[in-house]
Amino acid sequence: MKTFTDLITEVQEKGLCHHCGGCVAFCTAINYGALWLGADGRPRYLDKDKCIECGICYAICPVINELDEETKKLVSWSPPMGPVLGTATARAMDPEVQARGTDGGVVTALLLHLFEQGRIDAAIVSKKGGPFLRLPWLAKSREEILEAAGFHFDTVPNIAHFSQMYSTYSPSIMELREVAKKAVRRVAFVGTPCQINALRRMEVLGVVPSDAIKIHFGLFCAGNFQFGEDERRRLETLGNFQWPQVYKVNLKEDLMVHLRDGAIRHIPLEELAFMKRRACLFCDDYAAEYADLSFGGLGAPEGWTTVIVRSTVGRAILTQALGSTVEASNYRESPALSQALMAKVHEWSEKKKQAAEERNRELARRAV
Ligand SMILES: Cc1cc2nc3c(=O)[nH]c(=O)nc-3n(C[C@H](O)[C@H](O)[C@H](O)COP(=O)(O)OP(=O)(O)OC[C@H]3O[C@@H](n4cnc5c(N)ncnc54)[C@H](O)[C@@H]3O)c2cc1C
Ligand code: SF4
Ligand code: SF4
Ligand code: SF4
Repeated sequence: MKTFTDLITEVQEKGLCHHCGGCVAFCTAINYGALWLGADGRPRYLDKDKCIECGICYAICPVINELDEETKKLVSWSPPMGPVLGTATARAMDPEVQARGTDGGVVTALLLHLFEQGRIDAAIVSKKGGPFLRLPWLAKSREEILEAAGFHFDTVPNIAHFSQMYSTYSPSIMELREVAKKAVRRVAFVGTPCQINALRRMEVLGVVPSDAIKIHFGLFCAGNFQFGEDERRRLETLGNFQWPQVYKVNLKEDLMVHLRDGAIRHIPLEELAFMKRRACLFCDDYAAEYADLSFGGLGAPEGWTTVIVRSTVGRAILTQALGSTVEASNYRESPALSQALMAKVHEWSEKKKQAAEERNRELARRAV
């Protein structure tokens, strides 16, 4: 039986660990207590003697392909980029949600809708943890869900004085620990494609507390970034801005830095390779192919969110919310618009798959 020791050699030592926290979340939630997630986001043994060699941390790791077939079957995955039951360009109808959202505030609007309808008791989201930092959070009220909206980077006045490393990545799966602790039974999860993938693997194995995750909201992901003082300065030069001028940062086809005077600076993603997390270079899922609903800014006009419906659960949620909390500009009405939208997502998805394939091939070649 392969265990966490094998994850160290096959995943971590090769620099492929996504830091999704799946391995730790299971081992902790089930109270084996052999693992913990270090402050640097890297999973480690907490007490190796407590490991009962169940092998589940190994099986649920999204980098390991042991459960690929079963996971694909579970979500009815099909090429080229997972199931697509429909697409929409949408935004929240509540102006407050719209204003707080990263794009159209649709993720937050749908979470609020589900919460107010009594269909979920809580949502795993990410809240601000400080400048340039987001932390996983089990939001249990309307206010908490609303507070977690957006993908905004704090730009507090003393921003120039911090020196630690920051990351856009938030290990949301770690909140499964809270789900288990608080015995919450109906939870919506918002996260990156790799996190959704790990959750689906837990679902395949039927391990707790993944059974409490009733809805999977996936965010498009070109990659996550890790940066310190030097990288922040380099970004300022690349985008010709200064951090105190910034009120919002967003990722679509490029990195968009919104300035307080209304100007938007665009930095091509290729120029951000210097701060991309290494594991993201080997990842091939752009459009959250294992989610119930996938969301991104790509292809949508400013202030709107692109939505891909991937399961009947996702379709029911979107359909029920349309007209009451969410408005859509092209859901069903315009097949041509939907086609254009999907062509764009497909293009980016393909680009990521090809790059990952090349890098994985190179890695295998070097290993030989
Ligand atoms: C790290 C990251 C990379 C992304 N990359 C792309 C990209 O390359 N192309 C693209 O089109 N879209 C990308 N997105 C998705 C995009 O930024 C929006 O999240 C998406 O369009 C939904 O917008 P919204 O206004 O409907 O969501 P909102 O209503 O603003 O809700 C966003 C939700 O995401 C949660 N969240 C915020 N930050 C994080 C985080 N770091 N990790 C996990 N959850 C978080 C919030 O808590 C909130 O629940 C990325 C998102 C993230 C978090
Ligand atoms: S007890 Fe199981 S989940 Fe925990 S480290 Fe050991 S093999 Fe992994
Ligand atoms: S499950 Fe996630 S955190 Fe654990 S080793 Fe695999 S990629 Fe890393
Ligand atoms: S690119 Fe996104 S989905 Fe892939 S490993 Fe990085 S954070 Fe996870």
